[in-house]
Amino acid sequence: MKIRLTYYVLIVFAIFSCDTLEIKDPISDYDLESEINIVEKDADLKRFLDENGFFNAKVFDVGEFYLIDNCHSVEKDALRNGDYFLKSNPNAQAVTNNLVSGNFFSFRTIRIRVDDSTMPFGGIHDWRPEITQAINDLNSVRNFRLRFELVSDGNFDILVRREPFNFIEDRDLRIRVIASAGFPTNGNPGSIIRINTLWGFGLNTGMKRNNMVHEIGHTIGFRHTNWNLSPNIEPSGASGANTIPATYSNDPQSVMNKGTALNVWSGFSLNDIVSFRTIYPFNNQEKPLYTFFRAVPNFNGIFRHWWTGNWLEGTSIITNNQNFLPSGVTGFIYNNPQQGSTPLYRHYSAGMDSYYLSTNSSEQGFINSTVIGHAYNSPGQGRIPVYLWFHPNEGHYISTNQNDARISGSGWVGGNVSFYVEGWF
Ligand SMILES: [Zn+2]
Repeated sequence: MKIRLTYYVLIVFAIFSCDTLEIKDPISDYDLESEINIVEKDADLKRFLDENGFFNAKVFDVGEFYLIDNCHSVEKDALRNGDYFLKSNPNAQAVTNNLVSGNFFSFRTIRIRVDDSTMPFGGIHDWRPEITQAINDLNSVRNFRLRFELVSDGNFDILVRREPFNFIEDRDLRIRVIASAGFPTNGNPGSIIRINTLWGFGLNTGMKRNNMVHEIGHTIGFRHTNWNLSPNIEPSGASGANTIPATYSNDPQSVMNKGTALNVWSGFSLNDIVSFRTIYPFNNQEKPLYTFFRAVPNFNGIFRHWWTGNWLEGTSIITNNQNFLPSGVTGFIYNNPQQGSTPLYRHYSAGMDSYYLSTNSSEQGFINSTVIGHAYNSPGQGRIPVYLWFHPNEGHYISTNQNDARISGSGWVGGNVSFYVEGWF
């Protein structure tokens, strides 16, 4: 017997995006293995959980796929194929053509006001506490030039209103939609967030908070993270869908996924952070440290890792050597020197046909030393260490995760801190 996951998804593109209830069959009749055994037996799964920030997640082995935290399914075939790890550009998080205008090194404050005539004070239909929480969540994103503020009177940019969703003719759909929001227009955020008056009952405070972060995300142009995943592909439509480098649409932790209106807030995914800081950076000299992996062995029989702070350079290595694919982001570096920073060099070994990353301008046995950005030699507020390993079959590998699943096999040496980058949170 198989579990059937049924998603009811409503796509109303161009005008607004809606978030719908996800309905699942119960899983209680399954003979479930303990999470520890499942994860320890499957290195691919362990790596997936590590990379996607699933700490202490409940994992069920249900045959063809794993079910994580009763919510996310991870297909075993896709796990084996590396689909979750090696990201190609087309399947990426996306923003609309219209964005909120503003300038680098300048915060823009977006005022959010509640329509008091439609939302009571106190009780389960009062979403103000969760709106405040969502605003704090968004304001906590680092190097993000949009700031949000809840105002009780005066001018505002976004109005939050409770209303019956009579604009959806299909009654079955109408009762499943929890909230909707508009995309930006004329350089301003989408002006209205609507909350369905049918909802409130049955939504806990974490769900409301999750919905509000999600809807505010739409008002500043973020589309659904899984917009491009079959079978429910959302057309880019008049709103447009411009992809964000090194993000991907199969990011189960993303707050911007569709069909997740009953998810309880658990923070931004790492890719959400990349998206926000890429689209609306305060300091636009900050860049993700883009990491690439070549899963096909070179003439020496080794896999290769490669890094850049310049996505265009990354796309060229994909184009010129099709076996290199993006494999994520290793924190954030800078295009130009910052106070206390040091250049980060990418070195090349002709003998091994392999790459190495360090803060030394030259390394014995390596050539073509190139500055790819600026990082730090010492710890500091907000910085995280980058660890370095070496494997005879893979060359050098870096990660901000000291227990990275990739280095769990035999043959890896190293594991010392190599340099520091700007952290995620
Ligand atoms: Zn949505």
